[in-house]
Amino acid sequence: MTIGVAVLGSTGSIGCSTLAVLERHRERFRVVALTAHSNAELLRIQAERWKPAYVGIVNGGKGEVGRGKGTACLVEAATHPDASIVVNGIVGAAGLEATLAALRAGKRVALANKETLVMAGELVMREARAGGGEVVPVDSEHSAVLQCLTGREARDVSRLILTASGGPFRTWDPARITGATVEQALQHPTWKMGRKITVDSATLVNKALEVIEAHFLFDLAYAQVEVVVHPQSVVHAFVEFVDGSVLAQLGFPSMELPILYALTHPARVADHGPRRFDALTAGGGALTFEPVSAARFPAYTLGRAAGTAGGTAPAVFNAANEVAVQAFLDGRIALGRIPEIIECVLADHAGGDAGSLEAVLAADARARRRALEVACS
Ligand code: NAD
Ligand code: MG
Repeated sequence: MTIGVAVLGSTGSIGCSTLAVLERHRERFRVVALTAHSNAELLRIQAERWKPAYVGIVNGGKGEVGRGKGTACLVEAATHPDASIVVNGIVGAAGLEATLAALRAGKRVALANKETLVMAGELVMREARAGGGEVVPVDSEHSAVLQCLTGREARDVSRLILTASGGPFRTWDPARITGATVEQALQHPTWKMGRKITVDSATLVNKALEVIEAHFLFDLAYAQVEVVVHPQSVVHAFVEFVDGSVLAQLGFPSMELPILYALTHPARVADHGPRRFDALTAGGGALTFEPVSAARFPAYTLGRAAGTAGGTAPAVFNAANEVAVQAFLDGRIALGRIPEIIECVLADHAGGDAGSLEAVLAADARARRRALEVACS
């Protein structure tokens, strides 16, 4: 009997990598639901290939593929009775309700959609504990941590060190970064991903989101989650244990392994996908590490501070960033305005408890309105 998988955001970078993994493991998995935002053409091709029981499109025109339409299709796919695993590859806050609904229905959520864990980490983890579901990270750094932790005691962990590639502006002068073009921001040195996360990787907002993600997933204090820049993206994370021993997980940059592991955890299955590791050629013969430059990446510092502040501050940080990144991608603001907008919106945030969905959504909406005002000023 194969395991049913729902793939949300199937037309995106994570969605397509997930289907590539599933293609190699058809004896183990079947696709029972697919959803996309608006790429009806690719969704139709995927639906013909996989013949899932459910196909949903959020923003589909008349006559386009899909039995589900509008945002409701995300929850319908995420709670499909034939799905045991839901891969959430949606970008941004739009993925939250589907994650919560899947957990409530007792599913494993293979979570790439980090924004929603940042927004509502307390709620998501509570829902996972209460509903019998579980969150398994797809993000490569968090998959690395999980792989180092599996079979070990959480209480023996003293520290995590997540790696960051440093993105395209790792060596640029801070003043030059503020005026970088969209094209330059989208030139990621080691990973090929969707546009939003690629910009987040250029500002290092992505790493701040990941620190917050790690805090919630592994129940660690922010002081226990460190970051180092590692331009080769071969070591994905280190885990230090209380006795001082350090484990790391390595591999050439590809999301297919973390996706496969999220499907099979804690088991491993033989796979012949991405290029095999080679210690002699990894990183061109040298693996290097350097500190995060606060001068180059002010948004990283803001994100960590929002995480430490807690409550709805991470939701506000995420919302302000989503609005600012969209404005940057649309050519409305310079790259340097992204941290400025985030800082301004966070400065106006009065704090608040993130224990209910209403509170989180209200903080998110308020931060979006404020970020738009600041972006237009
Ligand atoms: P992407 O832009 O390539 O794909 C996004 C997918 O989400 C698309 O299928 C799109 O149809 C769908 N989508 C977009 N807006 C939507 C909406 N409002 N409602 C419903 N569906 C919507 O992005 P991606 O690079 O695949 O990233 C997806 C998520 O995974 C992000 O949260 C990102 O941070 C995370 N992630 C991605 C990578 C990577 O390698 N791409 C690595 C780690 C984490
Ligand atoms: Mg990552």
